[in-house]
Amino acid sequence: MSNPLRPAQPKIIAVANQKGGVGKTTTTINLGAALCELGNKVLIVDLDPQGNASTGLGIETEDRALTTYDLLLDEAELNDVILPTSTVGLSLIPATVDLSSADIELIANEKRSYLLHDALRQPAMDNHQFDVVLIDCPPSLNLLTVNAMVASHSVLVPLQSEFFALEGLSQLMLTVREVRQSANTSLRIEGIVLTMYDARNNLSQMVEADARANLGELVFETVIPRNVRVSEAPSYALPVLAYDTGSKGAAAYRALATELTQKYNRVA
Ligand code: ADP
Ligand code: MG
Repeated sequence: MSNPLRPAQPKIIAVANQKGGVGKTTTTINLGAALCELGNKVLIVDLDPQGNASTGLGIETEDRALTTYDLLLDEAELNDVILPTSTVGLSLIPATVDLSSADIELIANEKRSYLLHDALRQPAMDNHQFDVVLIDCPPSLNLLTVNAMVASHSVLVPLQSEFFALEGLSQLMLTVREVRQSANTSLRIEGIVLTMYDARNNLSQMVEADARANLGELVFETVIPRNVRVSEAPSYALPVLAYDTGSKGAAAYRALATELTQKYNRVA
């Protein structure tokens, strides 16, 4: 329930899929940038020890003095872990390889599944007035991903348009169901977005047809095409929207942001 003494809280979305290389980080960065273009204030939480979202947004390892790890362990002030990026309205909590030990270190912690939930709901969040928080999850269904799901209102699932794409989905859905039955009863699936789609490839079309037949409305109408500009952008430390604003990849992420906003305004 909303607290009348505190301003509107951000919508928190976990970008998750336990498969690596399906477009989680790419979607987090570019959807985040596209939501900023629509006038939102967005916070990206890098929850992957690989720190790809941090690198892709131009935060070098040596500039990551305080990270998501410190936030989870309550060893840093929220204001000290949030960094600005070159995109107006887009902030980041960076990650380093430190996070990989969190899984083991937190086993004895009674609140281990609620650490991110609590961190993102502390009063210090209010000053930032974020509209949306996007959590870039690691490629596994470990304690970090569970933290993301417990902290979030919904889960957005990037699905690579390739054979076997749907196979891992049942396990992901099972984890969502478990979290829903325990720590976060109102957790929703925000939607499934097809990534790296190649319209000339029959396989992409088959995966799309299969996904839409099986998952219906859960699948976003917007499809993210395979686009070389999207894959080049991180090495320039920019979202594709800034790196090549007229590219097909940029257009697709703008469309996804618009569709997402319309969708959750309908539900809210
Ligand atoms: P994950 O975070 O799920 O591991 P990434 O977002 O890092 O996946 O994407 C994996 C690789 O695919 C990266 O090299 C990325 O640049 C590339 N990639 C992602 N989306 C696209 C796209 N739409 N077009 C071309 N390359 C893409
Ligand atoms: Mg990633």
